[in-house]
Amino acid sequence: MNPTETPLKIRHTFLDFLYWNLLVSVPFIAACIAIVEKSIAWLIIYIIACISLVMVIYRFYCIHCPHYHQSGKTLKCMFFWWMPKFFKAESGPLSPLEKTVSVITLLVIIMLPIYWLLLRPGLLVIYLLSIGVLGLTLRRYECKRCVYFQCPSNCVPEELK
Ligand code: SF4
Repeated sequence: MNPTETPLKIRHTFLDFLYWNLLVSVPFIAACIAIVEKSIAWLIIYIIACISLVMVIYRFYCIHCPHYHQSGKTLKCMFFWWMPKFFKAESGPLSPLEKTVSVITLLVIIMLPIYWLLLRPGLLVIYLLSIGVLGLTLRRYECKRCVYFQCPSNCVPEELK
């Protein structure tokens, strides 16, 4: 049986990566449009800040993920493809510090462009709706079959673990 057809999602495919990155691109592009209308310099700072903060999540959250532990020098998962594994993989659950840093970093990423989006209410609505769709789709279709059991959002039934 193809591993992607098991009740648990053992491996992600390149199409998963494309799908989730297209979904993420909607709020990201809405934020970029709102910022670039005011300043190209702030857009560059925003993009660099996003990349840096995603790296913080990569360091504190992803190193515990089974997809990160899978063989090879690069990570292939729904959000990253051929991404070098810069950090040593860690087995075992996330520590309270790692959980706190990951959650706060995610909230900071979401809040970063709010000032510019408030100046463009139409883009703000698209931004918030697309983040809502992203979160709910993740929860509805991925969290209940995800092999990252230590993730606080994981909701795989006990009998499947
Ligand atoms: S599936 Fe999620 S937690 Fe796992 S490595 Fe990819 S982005 Fe990180």
